Amino acid sequence: LSPVPSDIEISRAQTPKPISQLAQEIGVLPEELEAYGNTKAKVHLSLLNRLQHQPNGKYVVVAGITPTPLGEGKSTVTIGLFQALSAHLKLNSFACLRQPSQCPTFGVKGGAAGGGYAQVIPMEEFNLHLTGDIHAITAANNLLVAAIDARILHEATQSDRALYSRLVPSVNGVRCFSPIQMHLGINKSDPSGFTPEEVRAFFRLDLDPEKVTWQRVVDTNDRFLRKITVGQANTEKSHAHQTQFDIAVASEIMAILALTDGLADMRARLGLMVVGSSRNGQSITADDLGVTGALAVLMKDAIKPTLMQTLEGRPLPLFVHAGPFANIAHGNSSVLADKLALKLVGEEGYVVTEAGFGADIGMEKFFNIKCRTSGLRSDVVVLVATVRALKMHGGGPNVTAGVPLPKEYINEISSQLVADGCSNLKKQIQIAHLFGVPVVVALNVFKTDTQAEIDMVCRTAEASGASAAVQCHHWSRGGQGSVELAHAVKKVASQKNHFQFLYNLQDSIVEKIRTIARKVYGADDIELSPEAQDKIDHYNQQVRRAVHYPPVSLSHMPEKKGVPTGFILPIRDIRASIGAGFIYPLVGTMSTMPGLPTRPCFYDIDLDPVTEEIKGLF
Ligand code: ADP
Repeated sequence: LSPVPSDIEISRAQTPKPISQLAQEIGVLPEELEAYGNTKAKVHLSLLNRLQHQPNGKYVVVAGITPTPLGEGKSTVTIGLFQALSAHLKLNSFACLRQPSQCPTFGVKGGAAGGGYAQVIPMEEFNLHLTGDIHAITAANNLLVAAIDARILHEATQSDRALYSRLVPSVNGVRCFSPIQMHLGINKSDPSGFTPEEVRAFFRLDLDPEKVTWQRVVDTNDRFLRKITVGQANTEKSHAHQTQFDIAVASEIMAILALTDGLADMRARLGLMVVGSSRNGQSITADDLGVTGALAVLMKDAIKPTLMQTLEGRPLPLFVHAGPFANIAHGNSSVLADKLALKLVGEEGYVVTEAGFGADIGMEKFFNIKCRTSGLRSDVVVLVATVRALKMHGGGPNVTAGVPLPKEYINEISSQLVADGCSNLKKQIQIAHLFGVPVVVALNVFKTDTQAEIDMVCRTAEASGASAAVQCHHWSRGGQGSVELAHAVKKVASQKNHFQFLYNLQDSIVEKIRTIARKVYGADDIELSPEAQDKIDHYNQQVRRAVHYPPVSLSHMPEKKGVPTGFILPIRDIRASIGAGFIYPLVGTMSTMPGLPTRPCFYDIDLDPVTEEIKGLF
């Protein structure tokens, strides 16, 4: 239709197929499906076992140039390409998307179910609670916080013996060790034989309140939770302290969900999460607090990917699963969803998965962290570009979400801005080539783009080494608008590629950071703050017996446009997500709790009390 109706109008005009029927059509058995209502269902991981001998399909990752704050259409291109491959080229295909936080939905950017005629339906389910995975993460994360604070309080107020007898109660004369204590090997047959030193060593964690690093989380952009004081009631007053809330998707548990390959692995990773250190400098983990089993219980359903469908086709199935932050985690959807999808499509099929943010962040971490963890290798990178983002990189005025676009982006044809901005596109193509993976550029066309601008971008992309560069109209035309892209992807994916990582696990932490800073960000070198250097020394000691240092999730410089060069990248601090399995250096300041603007998206959102229809989501 022209003009294209709103996302929610398009979404609602299509009646979703019952999810159990869709699952049956793609070969998921009834016992492998857990329906949540009629339009979404979790898929059991046993499906992976059943299909273990099935060869994988082609693995396509969608990344983008450095975006404007409005987003350049990675989700819509992912869905549009998937619709084209499936509904038009008639190839077995699957898409895997990240589950969005509620922050953009109610805050500035709006939902993330794609848009126009390239959408996941029902989009309100996708953008809001879905199947509760983010709530499960919030519950698990905050149970761990409660365990930390309570343990510090109880240790401060109890003798060694009292602590011991409460942690290991005696039932009918037999000491009851918890599963986690058994797991840790703290299961002496004659517990009365514990010496006071052993009691202290096993049961007194001596967590230093000043060195607790685990934060509370919530999935609401509540800026007033960036710094808070807890423990104000009389019963905890002597333990009152300052702390903070992060957004739920920034929890390490989300990163674990995205990287794990099954329940046993997830449980082990949850147990390894470091929450702080003791007064004598030992790392304290979730295992030490005895809470790992409970965390695994809270996460047992979240680990299963959620099956939904797109607007177009028979309709078409896709997975939505996990959505970790990109600057302190790795910004990609789950390994499990991709693995399941690759098996479901079979050898001749295609899985289109999306990497978050710009390719320098999301794609770098897709390869260096996600693919390294999963063992999967992608066959082709689809790099999404828009004329508006290229104009911004070429020196156009800043684009702000929630504010009308400056006139340079709507009324003015500026070949010069676009030509200059193509430097960012070239750089992102080069980054993909560092990994040895071919690139197809997808120019996501907006109605304000001119043919001359479109042609210029496609020509520049091909001249910069892209295997193909095509314009896409999926937003206004659905899969039909991405058929050319689908053909290009099919052709390029069938060619052999020579994948390589950017660094080896054996490289030191500093070498890894330097490699990313130089090769991906264009820095001359890195500069470590004294705090960052101390942390590196600490991690070096901690992993000195391990052969490998974990991969690195380096944060970025969002304010830089075009292709910055000739600078030293200052590393302010270094932190570790031991359970998830990576180290993340911090560059500059970074908020892990977004705030609301003056006029947030929620102004437009409402519910019709009679029809129960949601209005104003986009
Ligand atoms: P990303 O995944 O890169 O953040 P999205 O695919 O979510 O970007 O798109 C961002 C917003 O822009 C969405 O609201 C989407 O509907 C809209 N959008 C994307 N492509 C187009 C287009 N070609 N024309 C108009 N709006 C578009």
